[in-house]
Amino acid sequence: MHSYSLIAPAKINLYLEIIGDRPDGYHELAMILQSINLADQIDIRAASTDTIRVRCEHPQVPTDKSNLAYKAAALMANQFPDAFAQYGGVEITINKQIPVAAGLAGGSTNAAAVLVGIDLLWELGLTQSELEELAGKLGSDVPFCIAGGTAIATGRGNELSPLPNLDHLHLVLGKYRSLAVSTAWAYQTYRQQFGDSYLTDTHSLTSRATAVHSGPIVKAIIRKDSVQIAEKLHNDLERVVLPEYPQVAQLRQVFQEAGGNGTLMSGSGPTVFALCESYEQAQQVQQYVRKAIPDPDLELWLAQTSSTGVQIAASAK
Ligand code: ATP
Repeated sequence: MHSYSLIAPAKINLYLEIIGDRPDGYHELAMILQSINLADQIDIRAASTDTIRVRCEHPQVPTDKSNLAYKAAALMANQFPDAFAQYGGVEITINKQIPVAAGLAGGSTNAAAVLVGIDLLWELGLTQSELEELAGKLGSDVPFCIAGGTAIATGRGNELSPLPNLDHLHLVLGKYRSLAVSTAWAYQTYRQQFGDSYLTDTHSLTSRATAVHSGPIVKAIIRKDSVQIAEKLHNDLERVVLPEYPQVAQLRQVFQEAGGNGTLMSGSGPTVFALCESYEQAQQVQQYVRKAIPDPDLELWLAQTSSTGVQIAASAK
C-alpha cells in the first residue's frame, strides 16, 4: 500500500478587508493570500484498521476529532464510502513547523494536505476544483491551501481568483510563542466594534468591486512592484487585535522601525511580518528586532513567498 509525504505550506495575508455580514453568518471578505515556504510535513498512509488516526507531538495540537486533518479525512470517508471500505483506515502524522493559532493557516493547510493525500492514496483522481470544493466544507482558508501561490479570495474567503505568482519575496515573521489569538474572537469583536460601519446586507451588493479597496495592491502585485506591495499591505483585523494585545502592537512597531519595505499582522494574528527587498535586508530586520526585544518567548523566522500549495515530497509502496 502506498504512503505519501506531503509539504503543507503556511500562508500570510497581504490584504484583509471585512466588507460586511453574510446571510450565512460569516463575513463577506476580500483577502489576498500568499503562500510562504514555512511548512508542515504531513505523512499519510493506509491503516490496518478502518479508523482515522492522527499523530502530532506539538502540545497545542489536538489529535482527536477536533483536528482539522482528522476532519478532512472524515469528510473524504463520508464522501467516498466505497474507497474508504476498500482501502481501510488512514494514519496521519503531522510534523508541525508552522506556529499554532498564529494567523498562518496551520490547521487549514494540514486539512488541504490530507485531502490531496487521500485523493492519491485512494486513487480517486479528483480535479483541483473538486478538491477545492471539498476543502470549502472544512474552512474558509482550506481551498486556497490546495494550490497556494498568490490569490484574491472573496465571499467568506473561499472564492479564489489566482493572481500572478509573487514568489521569492523575502520576509521576516515574528510571533510570541506563548501568545495565541482565536480567529473566532477576532471576527466577533470586529463585528461588535465596527459592525455599524459595514454592510449588513451583502445581498444588496450589485458588484463586489464597489466595496473592495484592494485595487492598488492587486495592481502592484501584477507589476511585481515589491515596494508598492509593501506600502499597500492592509488588515482590518489589526483594529481589534492590536489594542487587545499590546505586545503584538509593540512587535509591529519594532518591525516597522527595523527598515523593511512594509509590515503587517497576518490574518487574525498574532504573527507579524515584514516584507524585505533582499535576504540581507531580512537578516538585518531580524537582528534589529531581536536586539530591540530580547525576550526568548519571541520567535523569529526568515522565509520567502512561494508559488506552491500542497506538494508531494515523497511516496512509497
Ligand atoms: P487561520 O490562519 O486559518 O485562522 P491559524 O493559523 O490562526 O488559522 P491554526 O494553527 O489553524 O490557527 O490553529 C487554530 C486552532 O485549531 C488551534 O487552537 C489548534 O488547537 C486547532 N487545530 C486543530 N487542528 C489543527 C492542526 N492540524 N494544526 C494546528 N492547529 C489545529
